[in-house]
Amino acid sequence: MARYTGPVCRLCRRAGEKLYLKGDKCYSDKCPVARRTYPPGQHGQRRRKASDYALHLQEKQKLRRIYGVLERQFRRYYEMAAKAKGVTGETLLQILERRLDNVVYRLGFGVSRPQARQLVMHGHVAVNGRKVDIPSYLVKPGDVISIRERSRDLDLIKANVEAAQQRGVPEWLSFSPETYSGEVLELPRREQIDLDVEEHLVVEYYSR
Ligand code: SF4
Repeated sequence: MARYTGPVCRLCRRAGEKLYLKGDKCYSDKCPVARRTYPPGQHGQRRRKASDYALHLQEKQKLRRIYGVLERQFRRYYEMAAKAKGVTGETLLQILERRLDNVVYRLGFGVSRPQARQLVMHGHVAVNGRKVDIPSYLVKPGDVISIRERSRDLDLIKANVEAAQQRGVPEWLSFSPETYSGEVLELPRREQIDLDVEEHLVVEYYSR
């Protein structure tokens, strides 16, 4: 499936804030968002007052880019959330959090969502003991996500697991560094999702 392959830091500069798409660089002073606080492009430094529509669109684009999801699939997630019981915005975030590439990132096997996505696509990840190489696979409570045995010796994965032990994982997941695995304990609640996103704007964008 096609996906955005351009410079990801531009996406953060467009959003006007850090979307944490590059791992360690995002936490260093090399992050371009900190150095250039205006949007990318020739007209980036012009002052413009954002319309109401633009604010809704920006929030939708921001959320989509954080999780690395293309428009069509993102809209599908919104439709799933709108049909489900509960608060649509929260359910939308819950669906995005359940993506396998996101869970691999949350468990710390990848330093960023794009890196986690690559680990999944390259066949390093298993769900309940079976290889799954589809980043959009939606996990559910009780699923055990692990690094496949033959991939556990990779330097990148070893370093990431070591760093993950210091950082910890969200409450809705458990993490076992000895077995390179983690379990989905429950679906995440809004307060357990550490994202600075106004999801109601995304819902309003699609329900216009
Ligand atoms: Fe975004 Fe990270 Fe690039 Fe900074 S370094 S602009 S947070 S992807």
